[in-house]
Amino acid sequence: MTPSTDRNQTLFDRAKALIPGGVNSPVRAFRAVGGTPAFVQRAQGAYFWDANGKRHIDYIGSWGPMILGHGHPAVLEAVQKAAMDGFSFGAPTEREIELAEEIVKHLPSVEMIRLVSSGTEAAMSTIRLARGATGRNMIIKFEGCYHGHADALLVKAGSGLATFGHPTSAGVPADVVQHTLVLEYNNIQQLEEAFATQGKDIACLMIEPIAGNMNFVRASLPFMKRCRELCTQHGALLVFDEVMTGFRVALGSAQSVYGAAIPGFKPDLTVLGKVIGGGMPLAAFGGPRAIMEQLSPVGPVYQAGTLSGNPVATACGLATLKEISKPRFFHELSARTKSLVDGLKGAADAEGVPFAADHEGGMFGFFLLEALPANYTQVMKSEAPKFAKLFHGLLDRGVYIAPALYEAGFVSAAHTEGDIAQTVEAARAVFKTLK
Ligand code: PLP
Repeated sequence: MTPSTDRNQTLFDRAKALIPGGVNSPVRAFRAVGGTPAFVQRAQGAYFWDANGKRHIDYIGSWGPMILGHGHPAVLEAVQKAAMDGFSFGAPTEREIELAEEIVKHLPSVEMIRLVSSGTEAAMSTIRLARGATGRNMIIKFEGCYHGHADALLVKAGSGLATFGHPTSAGVPADVVQHTLVLEYNNIQQLEEAFATQGKDIACLMIEPIAGNMNFVRASLPFMKRCRELCTQHGALLVFDEVMTGFRVALGSAQSVYGAAIPGFKPDLTVLGKVIGGGMPLAAFGGPRAIMEQLSPVGPVYQAGTLSGNPVATACGLATLKEISKPRFFHELSARTKSLVDGLKGAADAEGVPFAADHEGGMFGFFLLEALPANYTQVMKSEAPKFAKLFHGLLDRGVYIAPALYEAGFVSAAHTEGDIAQTVEAARAVFKTLK
């Protein structure tokens, strides 16, 4: 296709004149892999069509929310019905209660929740709540974990920042992050030292239990167990950022995965987003009543939002959660994801390409490495040019994975075994060129 007939390119040029980098969220610009982003015209099921009319098998799904695939009939119907009744009221509605009930039902650690509009807002508000509830300032986060773009959390945050080579963002004053302690993921010794020296000042430890912003890296069971023990021992709150993993890796989210392996395990607070909004701007944070009632208007911690609990977004989230709560939903989604990951691994092995992959529920990650990394430093050993070649080889063949090697992938209920087989065959063809 010549540049003049490439409508993706035409749109990108137009966008770049008006929107920084041509995009409204940095990773969409394809900077890490080069080339022209696919401008999406429409999507259905497991596919989207770009501005040239080309079909792509979509393994991003809006970076996680589209667990049912695009345009699921039950969700569409719920959204259309809600929209007919009004877009936004700035007053409470029954559906907010229904969504809260549906979320709380599946998360034993959560007694109360508050709805907001983005994961960033939810994580930021959770930090304020943890600080307000404990009367302490210090927070722990881990290198490579992304919790949205609030100032205090934008330190060594993986994801887009890693892609663009910024360990942290310009415009964040040093004194704003002086209370943010950044530790290495899965490093028990560092964790113990931090609590030994600063334990009495730590309000909370925030963690992505399965980190999806440095591709896919699990917190090991001993590490997670130690996070729980040290938080309890020092009166700090353990916060699970499940914006990505919530209702995506299991109906009970990542906390159910750790809960099944560590007796009595629960986080104190949970941050949610993505799937609970089904593709609409909706997120939440929650925990025990005694902590959540520190929030205004009951308690002294202020938090608010014009569009919080938006009626159309809550309808979308509720319909999505109802579908994924059906028997065997996660069993089938996990099997499909496993089949993709096993297929890719088999193809890479056959072609002699180093390949390590992991998955949980409908989320997966793979590295062009011999072994799975355990932290951000190890993730950074991935070869970016080799990944870019794989990315473009797949894109040419109609398979759309994240345009950066620091991002996880997502399978939806709409992906068929045929889609998986096509993806594996596309990967096999590209692997042949990677040796
Ligand atoms: N936390 C995690 C774990 C995320 O993956 C993200 C976004 O990808 C966020 C927070 C921020 O969410 P949002 O992009 O909705 O602000």
